[in-house]
Amino acid sequence: MSTPYAYFKKQVIPLSEAKIGVMTHAFNYGTGVFEGIRGNWNEETQTIYLFKIPEHLKRLRMSAHICRIEIAETDEELTSLIMQVVARSEIREDQYIRPLAYKSSEVLGVRVHNLEDDLLIFVAPFGPYLDSDAGIHVQTSSWRRVEDVSIPARAKTTGNYMNSALAKTEAMLNGFDEAIMLNNDGHISEGSGENIVVIRDGKLYTPAESDNVLEGITLETVLDLAKREMGLEVVSRSIDRSELYVADEVFMTGTAAHVTPILEVDRRVVGTGEIGPITKQLAQRYFNIISGRVPEYMHWCTPVPLAVPVKA
Ligand code: PMP
Repeated sequence: MSTPYAYFKKQVIPLSEAKIGVMTHAFNYGTGVFEGIRGNWNEETQTIYLFKIPEHLKRLRMSAHICRIEIAETDEELTSLIMQVVARSEIREDQYIRPLAYKSSEVLGVRVHNLEDDLLIFVAPFGPYLDSDAGIHVQTSSWRRVEDVSIPARAKTTGNYMNSALAKTEAMLNGFDEAIMLNNDGHISEGSGENIVVIRDGKLYTPAESDNVLEGITLETVLDLAKREMGLEVVSRSIDRSELYVADEVFMTGTAAHVTPILEVDRRVVGTGEIGPITKQLAQRYFNIISGRVPEYMHWCTPVPLAVPVKA
């Protein structure tokens, strides 16, 4: 059994010892920003491949800037800390690394100024989040995505996930796998933890960045592959709900969800009702890249080799 480790209050310690006080500001008011980074386990090489760390750190800083949270550590320090936490935890399976910068003062009072900031990192085993092999059924949520004028969706704040959680639970209790939220003017924004791509007549469409979405790293990766490797056209613009119903293929992207095909939206079959050819090709390529199996994309991966276990 592995012992997961965490970086907490400037030290790498066992995760079980990393505890915050009940008055911690971020716990009470959702004043934290975070990232989810995948560590993908490759059995053949006994190595964990961390995907696109610089991109995740860049987004973490962007979220922190919006929320006036200071991050004391440099990117080099954060990368090294992430690698240390992963190496010491020795989790020999797919995992999820969570850096979280937050208002750590133990005081009451709603604000983001005149408070202390801290940053923690933990790692946890994390297998498939959605059934990306079989595909999923989704529902348009009755909950609208948070607006940029309320809490910016482009900031990955802890507080924003109440919006996501309400939508996800509504969808699941209604018998669906995931929710798709609309923004206030009725355009598609995103899933509870995923971006959305719609394919019509061989072109890929994704919601405009101004339609209240998190600027997804998986999305950017997959669209890049579609353009460069498959020669497909990619369009970023507002998307209507009914465009999902008449699409040839729809899929979700996310660090947790990878590339997950959507087979039904609001009880309407998408395309043929089977996983479409473009989605299938992108999902396969993405999986091979993130697990360190494609040499030309190794620069997107940070390898953390684990010692070969000694057989008793
Ligand atoms: N939207 C939301 C709301 C998310 O939580 C996530 C997961 N981080 C995404 C989109 C996908 O972003 P990424 O591909 O960077 O994980």
